[in-house]
Amino acid sequence: MINPIIDQTTIERLRALINSVQRIAITCHKSPDGDALGSSLALCHVLRRLGKDAVVVTPDMAPKALEFIPGVRELVVYTRQELRARHVLAEAQLLFCLDFNSMQRVDRLGELIEPLKVKRVLIDHHLDPDDVFDVVISHPEASSTCELVFRVLMQLGLLRFMDRHAASCLYVGLLTDTGGFAYSCDSPEFYEIVASVMRRRFDRADLYNKAMNTFSAGSLRLQGYAISEKMQLFPDHGASLIVLSKEELTRFNYSRGDTESLVNKPLAIPGIYWSVFLREDADKIKVSCRSQGDFSVSDICSRYFNGGGHENAAGGDFIGTLDEAVARFHQVLADLFPGVAIHPVEQQPQPINDNENEM
Ligand code: 5GP
Ligand code: MN
Repeated sequence: MINPIIDQTTIERLRALINSVQRIAITCHKSPDGDALGSSLALCHVLRRLGKDAVVVTPDMAPKALEFIPGVRELVVYTRQELRARHVLAEAQLLFCLDFNSMQRVDRLGELIEPLKVKRVLIDHHLDPDDVFDVVISHPEASSTCELVFRVLMQLGLLRFMDRHAASCLYVGLLTDTGGFAYSCDSPEFYEIVASVMRRRFDRADLYNKAMNTFSAGSLRLQGYAISEKMQLFPDHGASLIVLSKEELTRFNYSRGDTESLVNKPLAIPGIYWSVFLREDADKIKVSCRSQGDFSVSDICSRYFNGGGHENAAGGDFIGTLDEAVARFHQVLADLFPGVAIHPVEQQPQPINDNENEM
Protein backbone atom coordinates (compact mmCIF):
# COMPACT_ATOMS: atom_id res chain seq x y z
CA MET A 1 0.00 0.00 0.00
CA ILE A 2 1.40 3.40 -1.02
CA ASN A 3 0.14 6.04 1.42
CA PRO A 4 -0.80 9.48 0.12
CA ILE A 5 1.80 11.87 1.58
CA ILE A 6 0.88 14.98 -0.42
CA ASP A 7 -1.69 17.20 1.19
CA GLN A 8 -5.07 16.53 -0.52
CA THR A 9 -5.99 20.24 -0.72
CA THR A 10 -2.80 20.83 -2.73
CA ILE A 11 -3.71 17.91 -5.00
CA GLU A 12 -7.20 19.33 -5.58
CA ARG A 13 -5.74 22.77 -6.43
CA LEU A 14 -3.41 21.12 -8.88
CA ARG A 15 -6.27 19.10 -10.42
CA ALA A 16 -8.27 22.29 -10.95
CA LEU A 17 -5.27 24.06 -12.50
CA ILE A 18 -4.52 21.21 -14.92
CA ASN A 19 -8.20 20.93 -15.90
CA SER A 20 -8.42 24.65 -16.62
CA VAL A 21 -5.53 24.90 -19.11
CA GLN A 22 -4.37 23.45 -22.43
CA ARG A 23 -0.73 24.57 -22.83
CA ILE A 24 1.65 23.44 -20.11
CA ALA A 25 5.40 24.04 -19.84
CA ILE A 26 7.66 21.95 -17.63
CA THR A 27 11.15 22.92 -16.58
CA CYS A 28 13.96 21.53 -14.42
CA HIS A 29 17.42 22.53 -13.16
CA LYS A 30 20.50 23.31 -15.28
CA SER A 31 22.91 20.46 -16.08
CA PRO A 32 19.88 18.17 -15.87
CA ASP A 33 20.46 14.72 -14.38
CA GLY A 34 18.45 11.49 -14.58
CA ASP A 35 15.93 12.66 -11.99
CA ALA A 36 15.40 16.13 -13.51
CA LEU A 37 14.94 14.74 -17.03
CA GLY A 38 13.09 11.60 -15.93
CA SER A 39 10.54 13.50 -13.82
CA SER A 40 10.00 16.26 -16.41
CA LEU A 41 9.61 13.90 -19.33
CA ALA A 42 7.40 11.43 -17.39
CA LEU A 43 5.04 14.26 -16.46
CA CYS A 44 5.12 15.51 -20.06
CA HIS A 45 4.20 12.06 -21.44
CA VAL A 46 1.27 11.74 -19.03
CA LEU A 47 -0.04 15.27 -19.69
CA ARG A 48 0.11 14.63 -23.44
CA ARG A 49 -1.88 11.42 -23.02
CA LEU A 50 -4.42 13.55 -21.15
CA GLY A 51 -4.69 15.65 -24.31
CA LYS A 52 -2.62 18.62 -23.13
CA ASP A 53 0.01 20.47 -25.17
CA ALA A 54 2.93 19.83 -22.85
CA VAL A 55 6.55 20.79 -23.57
CA VAL A 56 9.73 20.42 -21.48
CA VAL A 57 12.09 23.42 -21.57
CA THR A 58 15.52 22.84 -20.04
CA PRO A 59 18.06 25.57 -19.13
CA ASP A 60 20.80 23.70 -21.03
CA MET A 61 21.55 20.46 -22.89
CA ALA A 62 21.01 16.99 -21.49
CA PRO A 63 24.29 15.07 -21.21
CA LYS A 64 24.93 12.63 -24.03
CA ALA A 65 24.81 9.73 -21.59
CA LEU A 66 21.12 10.45 -20.90
CA GLU A 67 19.98 10.70 -24.51
CA PHE A 68 18.36 7.28 -24.19
CA ILE A 69 15.57 8.65 -21.94
CA PRO A 70 12.31 8.58 -23.96
CA GLY A 71 11.49 12.11 -25.15
CA VAL A 72 14.94 13.71 -24.72
CA ARG A 73 15.06 14.58 -28.42
CA GLU A 74 11.95 16.73 -28.06
CA LEU A 75 13.34 18.91 -25.28
CA VAL A 76 13.45 22.63 -25.94
CA VAL A 77 16.93 23.59 -24.78
CA TYR A 78 17.18 27.27 -23.83
CA THR A 79 20.88 27.65 -24.64
CA ARG A 80 20.27 26.10 -28.11
CA GLN A 81 16.76 27.24 -29.03
CA GLU A 82 16.29 30.51 -27.21
CA LEU A 83 13.49 31.82 -29.44
CA ARG A 84 11.53 28.60 -29.23
CA ALA A 85 12.00 28.48 -25.44
CA ARG A 86 10.74 32.08 -25.18
CA HIS A 87 7.73 31.22 -27.33
CA VAL A 88 6.80 28.07 -25.38
CA LEU A 89 7.04 29.88 -22.05
CA ALA A 90 5.16 32.95 -23.29
CA GLU A 91 2.32 30.74 -24.56
CA ALA A 92 2.17 28.46 -21.51
CA GLN A 93 -0.87 28.68 -19.25
CA LEU A 94 0.72 26.67 -16.43
CA LEU A 95 4.33 26.01 -15.47
CA PHE A 96 5.75 23.02 -13.61
CA CYS A 97 9.14 23.45 -11.91
CA LEU A 98 10.72 20.08 -11.23
CA ASP A 99 13.73 18.95 -9.17
CA PHE A 100 14.94 22.38 -8.05
CA ASN A 101 14.19 24.62 -5.09
CA SER A 102 15.68 27.94 -6.14
CA MET A 103 15.62 30.10 -9.27
CA GLN A 104 19.43 30.16 -9.17
CA ARG A 105 19.33 26.54 -10.29
CA VAL A 106 17.76 27.37 -13.69
CA ASP A 107 20.46 29.86 -14.67
CA ARG A 108 19.42 32.44 -17.29
CA LEU A 109 16.13 30.66 -17.91
CA GLY A 110 15.08 32.32 -14.64
CA GLU A 111 14.88 35.67 -16.45
CA LEU A 112 12.13 34.20 -18.65
CA ILE A 113 10.31 32.38 -15.88
CA GLU A 114 10.21 35.10 -13.26
CA PRO A 115 8.02 37.64 -15.12
CA LEU A 116 5.50 34.97 -16.26
CA LYS A 117 1.97 35.60 -15.03
CA VAL A 118 0.97 31.91 -14.98
CA LYS A 119 0.80 29.71 -11.88
CA ARG A 120 4.01 27.89 -11.00
CA VAL A 121 3.82 24.40 -9.55
CA LEU A 122 6.88 23.14 -7.68
CA ILE A 123 7.49 19.39 -7.36
CA ASP A 124 10.81 18.84 -5.64
CA HIS A 125 12.78 17.07 -2.91
CA HIS A 126 15.36 19.74 -1.94
CA LEU A 127 15.27 21.63 1.35
CA ASP A 128 13.85 25.15 1.75
CA PRO A 129 12.26 26.10 -1.58
CA ASP A 130 12.25 29.78 -2.64
CA ASP A 131 9.05 31.67 -2.01
CA VAL A 132 8.16 32.07 -5.71
CA PHE A 133 5.87 29.09 -6.34
CA ASP A 134 2.06 29.09 -6.25
CA VAL A 135 1.58 25.38 -5.57
CA VAL A 136 4.34 23.79 -3.50
CA ILE A 137 4.87 20.04 -3.41
CA SER A 138 8.18 19.90 -1.55
CA HIS A 139 9.19 16.69 0.22
CA PRO A 140 12.89 16.54 1.13
CA GLU A 141 12.32 13.08 2.61
CA ALA A 142 11.47 11.70 -0.85
CA SER A 143 14.11 9.72 -2.73
CA SER A 144 13.69 11.70 -5.90
CA THR A 145 11.45 14.05 -7.83
CA CYS A 146 10.45 10.99 -9.89
CA GLU A 147 9.03 9.44 -6.71
CA LEU A 148 7.05 12.64 -6.14
CA VAL A 149 5.75 12.79 -9.72
CA PHE A 150 4.57 9.19 -9.29
CA ARG A 151 2.83 10.14 -6.03
CA VAL A 152 1.22 13.22 -7.62
CA LEU A 153 -0.12 11.08 -10.49
CA MET A 154 -1.31 8.45 -8.01
CA GLN A 155 -3.14 10.98 -5.85
CA LEU A 156 -4.64 12.67 -8.92
CA GLY A 157 -5.88 9.24 -10.08
CA LEU A 158 -3.87 9.55 -13.30
CA LEU A 159 -1.66 6.47 -13.06
CA ARG A 160 -3.61 4.83 -15.88
CA PHE A 161 -2.09 7.45 -18.19
CA MET A 162 1.44 6.36 -17.20
CA ASP A 163 2.50 4.47 -20.31
CA ARG A 164 5.71 2.52 -20.94
CA HIS A 165 7.62 5.70 -21.85
CA ALA A 166 6.53 7.61 -18.74
CA ALA A 167 7.34 4.57 -16.59
CA SER A 168 10.82 4.29 -18.14
CA CYS A 169 11.46 7.97 -17.38
CA LEU A 170 10.37 7.54 -13.76
CA TYR A 171 12.49 4.42 -13.38
CA VAL A 172 15.60 6.34 -14.50
CA GLY A 173 15.13 9.01 -11.80
CA LEU A 174 14.26 6.49 -9.08
CA LEU A 175 17.40 4.58 -10.01
CA THR A 176 19.92 7.39 -10.51
CA ASP A 177 18.95 9.64 -7.57
CA THR A 178 19.41 6.68 -5.22
CA GLY A 179 22.76 5.60 -6.71
CA GLY A 180 21.17 2.41 -8.06
CA PHE A 181 18.86 1.83 -5.04
CA ALA A 182 21.77 2.33 -2.64
CA TYR A 183 20.77 5.40 -0.57
CA SER A 184 17.71 7.56 0.18
CA CYS A 185 15.51 4.52 -0.47
CA ASP A 186 15.01 2.87 2.90
CA SER A 187 11.22 2.76 2.94
CA PRO A 188 9.33 -0.32 1.68
CA GLU A 189 6.98 2.11 -0.11
CA PHE A 190 9.85 3.15 -2.38
CA TYR A 191 10.01 -0.41 -3.74
CA GLU A 192 6.23 -0.53 -4.09
CA ILE A 193 6.56 2.51 -6.35
CA VAL A 194 9.37 0.80 -8.29
CA ALA A 195 7.15 -2.29 -8.62
CA SER A 196 4.21 -0.23 -9.83
CA VAL A 197 6.38 1.54 -12.42
CA MET A 198 7.82 -1.79 -13.59
CA ARG A 199 4.34 -3.16 -14.37
CA ARG A 200 4.51 -1.05 -17.55
CA ARG A 201 6.90 -3.64 -18.95
CA PHE A 202 9.83 -1.61 -20.29
CA ASP A 203 13.22 -3.23 -20.76
CA ARG A 204 14.49 -2.74 -17.20
CA ALA A 205 17.89 -4.37 -17.64
CA ASP A 206 18.61 -2.27 -20.72
CA LEU A 207 17.66 0.95 -18.91
CA TYR A 208 19.78 -0.02 -15.90
CA ASN A 209 22.75 -0.63 -18.12
CA LYS A 210 22.34 2.66 -19.97
CA ALA A 211 21.71 4.73 -16.84
CA MET A 212 24.23 3.19 -14.46
CA ASN A 213 26.85 1.35 -16.40
CA THR A 214 27.59 3.11 -19.67
CA PHE A 215 30.70 5.27 -20.02
CA SER A 216 32.80 6.40 -22.95
CA ALA A 217 36.36 5.07 -23.07
CA GLY A 218 37.62 8.59 -22.27
CA SER A 219 35.33 8.85 -19.26
CA LEU A 220 36.44 5.48 -17.91
CA ARG A 221 40.11 6.40 -18.38
CA LEU A 222 39.53 9.78 -16.73
CA GLN A 223 37.90 8.11 -13.73
CA GLY A 224 40.77 5.61 -13.50
CA TYR A 225 43.29 8.45 -13.65
CA ALA A 226 41.42 10.51 -11.06
CA ILE A 227 41.29 7.62 -8.58
CA SER A 228 44.81 6.41 -9.21
CA GLU A 229 46.63 9.74 -9.42
CA LYS A 230 44.44 12.44 -7.93
CA MET A 231 42.57 11.00 -4.95
CA GLN A 232 43.82 12.45 -1.68
CA LEU A 233 42.65 10.79 1.51
CA PHE A 234 42.39 12.49 4.89
CA PRO A 235 41.85 9.48 7.16
CA ASP A 236 41.81 11.55 10.35
CA HIS A 237 38.94 13.58 8.90
CA GLY A 238 37.18 10.66 7.18
CA ALA A 239 37.50 12.68 3.97
CA SER A 240 38.57 12.33 0.37
CA LEU A 241 39.36 15.05 -2.18
CA ILE A 242 39.66 14.73 -5.95
CA VAL A 243 40.66 17.79 -7.99
CA LEU A 244 40.66 17.87 -11.80
CA SER A 245 41.95 20.85 -13.75
CA LYS A 246 40.75 22.03 -17.16
CA GLU A 247 43.99 20.77 -18.66
CA GLU A 248 43.48 17.27 -17.23
CA LEU A 249 39.88 17.16 -18.42
CA THR A 250 40.92 18.19 -21.92
CA ARG A 251 43.60 15.51 -21.96
CA PHE A 252 40.87 12.89 -21.47
CA ASN A 253 38.55 14.47 -24.04
CA TYR A 254 36.05 15.36 -21.30
CA SER A 255 32.44 15.89 -22.17
CA ARG A 256 29.60 16.79 -19.78
CA GLY A 257 28.53 13.91 -17.56
CA ASP A 258 31.86 12.05 -17.85
CA THR A 259 32.65 12.48 -14.13
CA GLU A 260 29.06 11.92 -12.98
CA SER A 261 29.62 9.12 -10.43
CA LEU A 262 33.31 9.74 -9.64
CA VAL A 263 32.66 11.52 -6.33
CA ASN A 264 30.96 8.41 -4.92
CA LYS A 265 33.94 6.13 -5.45
CA PRO A 266 36.12 7.12 -2.43
CA LEU A 267 33.20 6.28 -0.10
CA ALA A 268 33.96 2.61 -0.83
CA ILE A 269 37.08 2.94 1.34
CA PRO A 270 36.46 1.96 4.98
CA GLY A 271 36.80 5.03 7.20
CA ILE A 272 36.09 7.53 4.41
CA TYR A 273 32.59 8.89 4.96
CA TRP A 274 32.62 12.12 2.96
CA SER A 275 34.00 12.90 -0.44
CA VAL A 276 34.61 16.14 -2.31
CA PHE A 277 35.26 16.55 -6.03
CA LEU A 278 36.45 19.88 -7.50
CA ARG A 279 36.23 20.23 -11.27
CA GLU A 280 37.58 23.27 -13.09
CA ASP A 281 34.90 24.48 -15.54
CA ALA A 282 35.16 27.39 -17.98
CA ASP A 283 33.93 30.06 -15.55
CA LYS A 284 33.86 28.42 -12.12
CA ILE A 285 34.91 25.46 -10.02
CA LYS A 286 32.10 22.91 -9.86
CA VAL A 287 31.90 21.35 -6.42
CA SER A 288 30.34 17.95 -5.86
CA CYS A 289 30.05 16.24 -2.46
CA ARG A 290 28.78 12.93 -1.13
CA SER A 291 28.61 11.50 2.37
CA GLN A 292 27.39 8.55 4.36
CA GLY A 293 25.34 8.51 7.55
CA ASP A 294 24.42 11.72 9.33
CA PHE A 295 27.39 13.80 8.11
CA SER A 296 25.68 16.57 6.12
CA VAL A 297 27.40 17.76 2.99
CA SER A 298 24.52 20.10 2.12
CA ASP A 299 25.53 22.26 5.12
CA ILE A 300 29.13 22.32 3.86
CA CYS A 301 28.05 23.24 0.33
CA SER A 302 25.76 26.02 1.45
CA ARG A 303 28.26 27.47 3.95
CA TYR A 304 31.45 27.19 1.93
CA PHE A 305 30.61 26.56 -1.72
CA ASN A 306 27.63 28.74 -2.63
CA GLY A 307 25.36 25.73 -3.10
CA GLY A 308 23.28 23.17 -1.27
CA GLY A 309 21.46 19.93 -1.97
CA HIS A 310 20.69 16.91 0.16
CA GLU A 311 22.27 15.67 3.38
CA ASN A 312 24.29 12.99 1.56
CA ALA A 313 24.59 14.47 -1.95
CA ALA A 314 25.21 18.15 -2.49
CA GLY A 315 27.07 20.56 -4.72
CA GLY A 316 27.86 24.15 -5.43
CA ASP A 317 29.79 26.64 -7.55
CA PHE A 318 33.03 28.19 -6.34
CA ILE A 319 34.12 31.37 -8.06
CA GLY A 320 37.91 31.56 -7.97
CA THR A 321 40.91 29.47 -8.91
CA LEU A 322 41.34 25.75 -8.33
CA ASP A 323 43.99 26.50 -5.68
CA GLU A 324 41.58 28.79 -3.87
CA ALA A 325 38.91 26.10 -3.95
CA VAL A 326 41.37 23.60 -2.45
CA ALA A 327 42.24 26.17 0.22
CA ARG A 328 38.50 26.49 0.95
CA PHE A 329 38.31 22.71 1.36
CA HIS A 330 41.23 22.84 3.82
CA GLN A 331 39.32 25.56 5.65
CA VAL A 332 36.35 23.18 5.95
CA LEU A 333 38.65 20.51 7.42
CA ALA A 334 40.12 23.00 9.91
CA ASP A 335 36.69 24.33 10.95
CA LEU A 336 35.01 20.95 11.34
CA PHE A 337 37.97 19.16 12.94
CA PRO A 338 39.80 21.81 14.95
CA GLY A 339 43.27 20.73 16.03
CA VAL A 340 43.43 17.71 13.69
CA ALA A 341 46.54 17.98 11.50
CA ILE A 342 45.83 18.06 7.77
CA HIS A 343 48.02 15.43 6.08
CA PRO A 344 46.74 14.15 2.79
CA VAL A 345 47.64 10.54 2.07
CA GLU A 346 48.29 9.86 -1.58
CA GLN A 347 48.84 6.16 -1.91
CA GLN A 348 51.06 5.71 -4.92
CA PRO A 349 51.62 2.23 -6.33
CA GLN A 350 54.88 0.76 -5.08
CA PRO A 351 57.67 0.42 -7.67
CA ILE A 352 58.07 -3.16 -8.95
CA ASN A 353 60.79 -4.87 -6.97
CA ASP A 354 62.63 -7.31 -9.30
CA ASN A 355 64.11 -9.24 -6.40
CA GLU A 356 60.64 -10.26 -5.25
CA ASN A 357 60.12 -12.21 -8.47
CA GLU A 358 63.06 -14.39 -7.61
CA MET A 359 61.62 -15.51 -4.30
P1 5GP B 1 25.98 16.59 -8.21
O1 5GP B 1 27.09 16.37 -7.25
O2 5GP B 1 25.45 15.29 -8.76
O3 5GP B 1 26.26 17.62 -9.23
O4 5GP B 1 24.79 17.19 -7.35
C1 5GP B 1 24.26 16.51 -6.25
C2 5GP B 1 23.14 17.32 -5.66
O5 5GP B 1 23.68 18.52 -5.15
C3 5GP B 1 22.10 17.76 -6.68
O6 5GP B 1 21.06 16.83 -6.73
C4 5GP B 1 21.64 19.08 -6.15
O7 5GP B 1 20.67 18.83 -5.16
C5 5GP B 1 22.83 19.61 -5.41
N1 5GP B 1 23.61 20.62 -6.16
C6 5GP B 1 24.58 20.40 -7.08
N2 5GP B 1 25.08 21.56 -7.53
C7 5GP B 1 24.43 22.53 -6.87
C8 5GP B 1 24.52 23.97 -6.90
O8 5GP B 1 25.31 24.58 -7.62
N3 5GP B 1 23.67 24.65 -6.07
C9 5GP B 1 22.79 24.01 -5.23
N4 5GP B 1 22.01 24.74 -4.46
N5 5GP B 1 22.69 22.67 -5.20
C10 5GP B 1 23.49 21.94 -5.99
MN1 MN C 1 16.60 14.93 -7.76
